Amino acid sequence: MSVTASPPAVGSFCLHRSHRGTARVRMAVRSNAVSVAPILTKLQKDCATPLPVLRHVADAMAADMRGGLAVDGGSDLKMILSYVNSLPSGNEKGLFYALDLGGTNFRVLRVQLGGKDERVIDTEFEQVSIPQELMFGTSEELFDFIASGLAKFAQKEGGKFHLPRGRKREIGFTFSFPVKQTSIDSGILMKWTKGFAVSGTAGKDVVACLNEAMERQKLDMRVSALVNDTVGTLAGARYWDDDVMVAVILGTGTNACYVEQVDAIPKLQGPKSLSGRTIINTEWGAFSKGLPLTEFDRDMDAASINLGEQIFEKTISGMYLGEIARRVLLKLAEAGALFGEAVPEKLTTPFILRTPDLCAMQQDNSNDMKAVESILYDVAGVESNLSARKIVIEVCDTIVKRGGRLAGAGIVGILQKMEDDAKGIVFGKRTVVAMDGGLYEHYPQYRRYLQDAVTELLGLEISKNVVIEHSKDGSGIGAALLAAANSQYEHDF
Ligand code: ADP
Ligand code: MG
Repeated sequence: MSVTASPPAVGSFCLHRSHRGTARVRMAVRSNAVSVAPILTKLQKDCATPLPVLRHVADAMAADMRGGLAVDGGSDLKMILSYVNSLPSGNEKGLFYALDLGGTNFRVLRVQLGGKDERVIDTEFEQVSIPQELMFGTSEELFDFIASGLAKFAQKEGGKFHLPRGRKREIGFTFSFPVKQTSIDSGILMKWTKGFAVSGTAGKDVVACLNEAMERQKLDMRVSALVNDTVGTLAGARYWDDDVMVAVILGTGTNACYVEQVDAIPKLQGPKSLSGRTIINTEWGAFSKGLPLTEFDRDMDAASINLGEQIFEKTISGMYLGEIARRVLLKLAEAGALFGEAVPEKLTTPFILRTPDLCAMQQDNSNDMKAVESILYDVAGVESNLSARKIVIEVCDTIVKRGGRLAGAGIVGILQKMEDDAKGIVFGKRTVVAMDGGLYEHYPQYRRYLQDAVTELLGLEISKNVVIEHSKDGSGIGAALLAAANSQYEHDF
C-alpha cells in the first residue's frame, strides 16, 4: 500500500465528529505526511523476521533451554522443575477444584471426574477480573480477594458435584508467575511479572499465602497441587490426547512448558521420577537473544516496572502489542502529522491502546474502514482519514506479525531441542502443541503468523506432523486433574 498519501488538515475530515472537540495539545513537527513513509519503512525493517532471523531465535531458544537445565541461572530461561512427573491418565475420579490466577483475571472451576468412561461428568467455572489497585497493593489484599471469590464459588456447589463424606475439598492452584517449586504443593514466588507489583509476596510460598487467606475466610480446602498455567494446559490437553508434548500460553504474558526426559536435566539432583519424565516450565518470557527490536520496544522497556526483563514477553504477548503500536502511532503523529497538524492528547497515554483494539481494527475488511475509524476515535481520541487508517493497520500488522512469527520460532526451538536429544521423539510422529491464552484464542492474524513461521522453519513434511491446537481452558481442568493425581486420599488412577 502507499504510505505517502497526504492526510488532509485537521477539520477537513470527520466533520460529523468535530463537535466532540477532541483535545489536541501538541503540534506535530511536520504538517505533511512525507515523513510517515520513512518511519513506517524503518519500523518494518526493524521488525522483519525473515527465515534466518527465525532460525537464529529457534536455535538460541534451544541453547538457552540447555543452559537453564544445566544449572540454575545458566541462561535467561529458568527451566523450572514442575514436580509433575505423571500426566493424567483419564482414570481420575471425584470432585476437584481449580483456581487460576493469570494476569488479567482469576478463574475458579470445579469438575466432577468420572474416570475413563464418564470422563468429565460436569464442570462449572466463574471468572473475576482483578481490580487494578490490587496489582499494586499488599499480598494479603490480593490473596484475600482471591480466597473470598473462591469461598463464594464453593458455596454454590450442588447438582452433579459430590464430595464423599469426611473429605476435604482439594484444589489445584494455577499461578502464572515465575515460582521456584519446592514440591508439587509449594513454591516460592521469584518475582512478579505482567505489570504486577504486589508487596510482600516475592520470596514467599504462594501456597502458604493462599492457605492463610483461606483460613481468614474460614474456607476449609487443601491445595494439593501448585501448577504453572502452562503445566495446567499441558495436563488438561493430555487428558484428551496422548500426543501432547508442549504447551504454550499467549495471553497477557507468555510462557511454555514441555515434557522432558529426567536424564536430560543435569541440575536435577536426588531421586528421579519413576516415569523417567517430568514437565519443565521454561519461563520463556525472559528469553532475549537475537530478537528484532525497535526504538519503540526499548522505550517501552525503559518505562516499564521490570526494565531489561521479560524481553520476549514484551515483544510477543498481549499486554504489550497494543502499547508498542501506540508508541509507533504517537511518533507518526508527532513527526509525520499522521492525524493532522496536532497530536491527539489521549494517544500520549501509555497502554491506552490495547491488543484487543488492534485485533478489532484488523478485522475490519471494509473499503471505508469505518470500524477502524471509530475504534481510533473512541479509544485514542484520534480523528483519521482513510489513508491514515490504512497506515494504522499497517502498523498493527507489523507488530502482530513480528509477535506471532517469533512465538512460532520459540515453539520450533523447543521441538528442535527435544528432537536433538532423542531422534524421532517429536518429528517422527504426530506431536501436539497445546495453545491457550486470550491473545492466541482471539487474534486470527496472530495465529496465522505463528503457524506460518512454524511451517517455514520445519518445512512442509515435518510440519504436517506438528499439530498446533487451541486447548480452551485446558489449564483449569488440568490443574484439577493434577490436584486429583496428588490427592491426599487413596486413589488408584
Ligand atoms: P491471562 O493471561 O491474564 O491469564 P487470558 O489468557 O484470558 O488471561 O488473556 C488475556 C489477554 O489476552 C489480554 O490481556 C489481551 O492482551 C489478550 N486478548 C484478550 N482478548 C483479545 C482479543 N480479542 N484480541 C487480542 N488479544 C486479546
Ligand atoms: Mg491465564
